[in-house]
Amino acid sequence: MNLENLWWQNEQQLTTYPLDLDINVDVLVVGAGYSGLSSALHLAQQGVNVAVVEASHIGSGASGRSVGLTNAGLWIMPQQAEKLLGVTAGRALNQLLIDAPLYVAKLIKDHQLDCDFLNNGTLHLAHSVAAMQYLHQRQSQLEVYGAKLELLDKATVYAKTQASGYFGALQDSRAGTLQPLKYCRELARLASLAGAKIYSQTQVCAIDKQGEKLVISTGQSQIIASKVILATNAYEQQLSYNQDLYTPLYYSQLASQPLSVEQRQQALPSNQGCWDTGTVMRSFRTDAAGRLIIGTVGNIHCGDAQGFKRWSQHVVSKTFPALGQLEYQYGWSGRIAKSSNNIPQVIEIDNNILQIMGYSGRGIAGATVAGRELAHYITGKISKTELALPINQAKAISFNQLRAAVYEVGCQLSHLSDHLLR
Ligand SMILES: Cc1cc2nc3c(=O)[nH]c(=O)nc-3n(C[C@H](O)[C@H](O)[C@H](O)COP(=O)(O)OP(=O)(O)OC[C@H]3O[C@@H](n4cnc5c(N)ncnc54)[C@H](O)[C@@H]3O)c2cc1C
Repeated sequence: MNLENLWWQNEQQLTTYPLDLDINVDVLVVGAGYSGLSSALHLAQQGVNVAVVEASHIGSGASGRSVGLTNAGLWIMPQQAEKLLGVTAGRALNQLLIDAPLYVAKLIKDHQLDCDFLNNGTLHLAHSVAAMQYLHQRQSQLEVYGAKLELLDKATVYAKTQASGYFGALQDSRAGTLQPLKYCRELARLASLAGAKIYSQTQVCAIDKQGEKLVISTGQSQIIASKVILATNAYEQQLSYNQDLYTPLYYSQLASQPLSVEQRQQALPSNQGCWDTGTVMRSFRTDAAGRLIIGTVGNIHCGDAQGFKRWSQHVVSKTFPALGQLEYQYGWSGRIAKSSNNIPQVIEIDNNILQIMGYSGRGIAGATVAGRELAHYITGKISKTELALPINQAKAISFNQLRAAVYEVGCQLSHLSDHLLR
């Protein structure tokens, strides 16, 4: 098994170059993931002179590592968001994120984005009888916002997935799966067609003020901008705006060799992306080549990758017993920026520096619409009160490193107990 990211094996590269001269722009976006590229796309569409600088390559952060589920809403219940943010702000955010999969599907369709998008619905699997109750509540709360969701019984879920051990599922037919890196590159292509300049291998190392302007330094160049969007989320390098604003949570995935035609009928025959309600969540999906991709919380690169493989073999043998032993070809992990309340936020570092972050593992559709919102806010199309995302001052999470360590150790122990005890 290669400890490499499956998504990065895709040969198609969007040609981008490092920035090696000084430039002047209205808005500089730091980070070429979904947040940065969607912001740039929607700014460029409104005629703003915008550039994106990326320290590494497009999608090198979470955007090129994810499961690829275009999920709706937050992890928390819509009513909880209303409680935490207040009814008006909570409703605006819920509506934005619950509609987000539709926006992604439309963007992909309208612009014919090549990202292996399967718009055939996702399944949130119930790992216990009690979890069906939770999914039922989630269904009623999301439907208030116009989402059409279907609660499926055990037999229907089994027919669709061939997965043992699940008691039912909540199906969102508006959502689907995509190849996350391809989607990211396609967003970059769209943004570039709209007029945004995109530079890779260009790391921002300092942002200084000079009168009303910002002076941004990279190793090889200087950029003068009126505004900066920091879209570095959990992958910030060199800068220090992120300290303890989120708790890093790792998620790892293993991809099997392509399944045979017969095996395809024994695991996810309906080709729907799934994740479950377990405390230490698991996800299952297939890719365009028919590999089974299994994921869970925890870092494959921390400690024993063979242990993760054993865990995976154990879970697959319990969940898809007809498959038999699988060979795994790829294994990789990524860092999720878990905010203190699981709600993404815009942080106003300064009048002219806005940071967008904290999707807490729900950022494919989420960051796409958040970037659009932020672009509309910057151009004045919407006011601060109309912005559907909360705008906060930076606030560090207390005992953050300890929290991160507790999550990681808890996940690793849970995986260990999965295959030792069950
Ligand atoms: C393993 C995993 C699985 C996930 N699965 C799902 C899923 O199925 N569905 C879903 O909705 N969400 C999922 N998520 C969450 C989602 O992927 C993220 O919320 C989303 O990609 C965040 O995008 P972003 O643009 O904000 O950040 P990122 O994609 O992390 O982009 C930040 C970029 O900033 C760049 N950068 C950092 N510092 C600098 C600097 N100084 N100068 C220049 N560039 C810099 C980085 O190199 C990076 O490319 C998952 C996340 C992970 C990690």
